[in-house]
Amino acid sequence: MISIRHRRPGRRRPDRSRALRNWELWTIPPVLLSYVLAVDALALAAPVLASGVDPIGSVDLVRFVALAVGSAVHIEAAKGIEKLRELAAEGLPYVNLKGMWTFAAVLLLPPPLAFALIVSTYLHSWLRLNRVRAYRLVFTTATVVLGSAAAALVLQALSPDGYPGFPSGPIGLAVLVLAGLAYWFVNYGLVIGAVLLSSPETKARDMLGRLTDHFVGLGSLGLGVAAAVLLLEQPWASPLLLVPVLGLQYGLLAGQFQTAARTDTKTGLVNAAFWHDMASKELERATSTNSPVSLLYVDLDYFKPINDTHGHDAGDKVLQTVAAELQQVLQAVATELQRATRADDLVGRLGGEEFAVLLPSTSPVDAAEIAERIRRRIEGLSVRVNSQAGQTEVIDNLTCSVGVATFPDAASTLQLLVEAADKAQYAAKDAGRNRIVVAPASSR
Ligand code: GH3
Ligand code: MG
Ligand code: MG
Repeated sequence: MISIRHRRPGRRRPDRSRALRNWELWTIPPVLLSYVLAVDALALAAPVLASGVDPIGSVDLVRFVALAVGSAVHIEAAKGIEKLRELAAEGLPYVNLKGMWTFAAVLLLPPPLAFALIVSTYLHSWLRLNRVRAYRLVFTTATVVLGSAAAALVLQALSPDGYPGFPSGPIGLAVLVLAGLAYWFVNYGLVIGAVLLSSPETKARDMLGRLTDHFVGLGSLGLGVAAAVLLLEQPWASPLLLVPVLGLQYGLLAGQFQTAARTDTKTGLVNAAFWHDMASKELERATSTNSPVSLLYVDLDYFKPINDTHGHDAGDKVLQTVAAELQQVLQAVATELQRATRADDLVGRLGGEEFAVLLPSTSPVDAAEIAERIRRRIEGLSVRVNSQAGQTEVIDNLTCSVGVATFPDAASTLQLLVEAADKAQYAAKDAGRNRIVVAPASSR
C-alpha cells in the first residue's frame, strides 16, 4: 500500500533517504537490519498463526481467483502510470492503490488466502515495475501483511457477523472503519519506522507525506470495501470497478507531474518553460489593465571559476543559495507592498546561472530599486560548501549583473522584453559586472 522506491538515478536533490536507498541487506546499520528482519519474521508468523482457523472452501477459492485476476489486470493496466509515479515520488513514500485488492481480501477471504493474495499482488507488481532489491520487496510485503493482520484482528474481535465475513449493519460500518484504520496505521507506521531508522534527519513533513496521499490511500481501502460488496452481491459487475480505479490512478499522476513539470529540480524555482508561460499570461493581463511589467535578468558573475575552483557540487549549492535568496527578496518586496503576489511563480531559472524575475505592475524606477536590492543581497552572501578534498570552504565573493527592462516601454512582446533585459545584463557585464543596467525605453 505504501512503498518507497528508488529515486531516478542521476538526478540530484537534497537526499533524504540515502541510507534507505543504498542499503544492502548485509551493510545496513544493525538497528535497521534487526528492525527489517523483525518485521519480516512477524509477517511470516502471521499466516502461520492464522492458518487452520477455518477450512478453505471452494467459494473462497473462487473469490481468491477473482481478486487475484482483478489485481493482476489492475497492475498490468496501470503499469505505465505507476512507473512514472514512482519516478516522480523520488524516493519518498508514495501511495499506491493496491490496498483495494488486499483490503477486499482481508474482508472476504480466510487469512491464508488473504496473505497469499498480498504476496502474489506485490510479487507481480515487483516483477512488472522497477525492481527494488528483493529484501525491500519482502519488507514492503511484510508491512502490508502485518497491516492486514491488524485489520483481521479488529474484524475478528468486533465484527457482528464473525470472521471471515463481511461485517453488516451500523456496527459493521464502525468495524469496517476501525479495520481500515488499523490496516493503514500499521502499514504506514512500519514504513515510517524504516525511514526513521535509515535516515533520522528526514523531515517529519516529508515522512508523513501529503494529506491528500492519505486520503487516496484510505480511498483505496474504501474501494476495497466496494469490491468486496460487489463480489458478494453482483460478482459479474465487479470488473467495472476497474474503470474508476484506473481513472483515479491517472488523476494521481497528473497531480504529481503538475509540480514536477514546472519545477527546476536543482533550485526548486520554476523552470524556463513554465516561467515563460506565466510571464506571457502576465503580459496579457498587463496589456488589458494598461500597467507596466518589469523584468530583471540576473546572471552570476564569474560563476565558471567557482565550479573550477570548488567543484560542480559547490556550484550547485551556490545556485540553490542564490535561488533561495531571490525568493526571499521577492517575498519581502511583496510583503512591503502588501501585494498578494505569488512571488514563487515569478522567479525562474532560465538555465545555468541565469535567473529571471518578473515584476508585475512595477515601473522601471521601482524595478531598478529591487534589482539593486538583489545585487546587494547576493554580494553579501557567503555559502559554505564542501571542497573536493572534503573540507569546508566558504564562498563569499559572489556578485551578479542585472539587466532591467520594462514592458511596454522597452519592449512590446515577451520575447523582446527578455532580449532587452538580457542586453542590459550584458551591458552591466561590460561596464565591470556587479551592477545593474536599465534598458532604455524604445521608440515604439
Ligand atoms: P560571466 O561573469 O561573464 O557571467 O562569467 P560566468 O563564468 O559566470 O559565465 P559563463 O557563461 O562563462 O559560465 C557559466 C557556467 O555555469 C558554465 C557552466 O559550467 C556553469 N553551469 C551551468 N549550469 C550549471 C549547473 O547547473 N551547475 C553548476 N554547478 N554549474 C553550471
Ligand atoms: Mg550566463
Ligand atoms: Mg555568469
